[in-house]
Amino acid sequence: MEKVVIVACGSYMDSGYGCPGEWRCLKAAAMGDGHFEGPSQVIAFVKCECPGRTLAPNTGMAIKLSEIKPDKIYMSSCMVNAKPGCPYADAQEMADIIEKKTGIKVILGTHDYT
Ligand code: SF4
Repeated sequence: MEKVVIVACGSYMDSGYGCPGEWRCLKAAAMGDGHFEGPSQVIAFVKCECPGRTLAPNTGMAIKLSEIKPDKIYMSSCMVNAKPGCPYADAQEMADIIEKKTGIKVILGTHDYT
């Protein structure tokens, strides 16, 4: 079973609809749905906060504190697909920053649930 970290858009989560009550990223990881290759163990869930500068260092710290090296980092579908999108950076740019910081492959998107 792969070990994964999920990072998600805090602005979207805090809006109170669409995400927080359903935790679809976690369901997709547990079921191996969407962009996950199979049932996956989530070792950290990191919430981005505007303007996003803390995301990469917080992700690195979450991995360090967990003492578990994840196989992959997943950017939530809300970070990748939500419209209007993040006003500070596009998803690929954020993924590149996280990959550079952690040395771990970043996958764009978690689930395809509607
Ligand atoms: S910086 Fe972008 S991705 Fe991060 S919480 Fe704000 S809107 Fe969401």
